Amino acid sequence: MSDTLEALRSYVHDLREREGVRQIKLTRAARAGLAKLVASHEDGSRRTPAGAAQQAPAATGAARNSQRSEERNAPPAFQRTISEPAAQRAAAANERIEVTGATKIEQLTHLNERAQACQKCPHLVARRHTVVFGVGDPEAKLMFVGEGPGEEEDQQGEPFVGRAGQLLTKMIIAMGLTREQVYIGNVVKCRPDMPPGVPGNRKPTRDEMDTCVPYLRAQIDIIKPRALVALGATAIEGLVGATGTMGSLRGKFIDYRGIPVMPTYHPSYLLRNQSTTEKRKVWEDLLKVMETLDLPISEKQRGYFLAK
Ligand code: URA
Repeated sequence: MSDTLEALRSYVHDLREREGVRQIKLTRAARAGLAKLVASHEDGSRRTPAGAAQQAPAATGAARNSQRSEERNAPPAFQRTISEPAAQRAAAANERIEVTGATKIEQLTHLNERAQACQKCPHLVARRHTVVFGVGDPEAKLMFVGEGPGEEEDQQGEPFVGRAGQLLTKMIIAMGLTREQVYIGNVVKCRPDMPPGVPGNRKPTRDEMDTCVPYLRAQIDIIKPRALVALGATAIEGLVGATGTMGSLRGKFIDYRGIPVMPTYHPSYLLRNQSTTEKRKVWEDLLKVMETLDLPISEKQRGYFLAK
């Protein structure tokens, strides 16, 4: 249950930090669902594991006082995280998934089979419809990395098929490429779950990213693209650990195991901010990627989204 609360906490945090949302209207059903969730979580936290009560020595007065003050200072149940210790998380993120196969297609197929059977995040396994592995050319020179599947991707089993995905497809075409010529994947392969009755999507938690990123790393190892584009702050954090605002990260290549990674805004950001200035920023990032890949660039392409 705390996994779901953590997921919700992360979603709300994300809305506030990235979109400046200060108030969320909840339907009556969502409010009731949330109240039930918090109540059952607090119930669970209060319950002492069987046997522990008999074994624990009676607290002294001083210990009781310090325990009470710790309880007072502890964050409310809703804000507590389920984070594992950092070292454990780092170890999970650095796990190397061994795959077999003589060709890239065979290796990706084997890796996909492992991802489809993955049960590492039971809370996501319980709600997922599909494991959204990735799509595109195993020989692609360019790979796009997003944060994780949303509702539509979860239904269809393919990354970037919703509104943001349609915009991504247009961006790829503007570069003179097709979706089939590039590879598209995400940091997490299962849709980050939402509490029952709450619509929308949320960004994956750090734990979810660290647990799942070995699949993305293995995909990159197999495909060996010449350049990567990280779409949004979560993608660049999940892939290379870089944190910061997209305004400060975008436009400059970051090295990932010898492959240049261009961080740029997520297409969903462009759907929310449709100004020519923001579109131009993303387009300039993509022009740099095209230059790195020695893709032909026409004068017309150079001028996209420039004020006339
Ligand atoms: N957003 C992402 O980051 N990835 C998807 O696959 C879809 C939307």
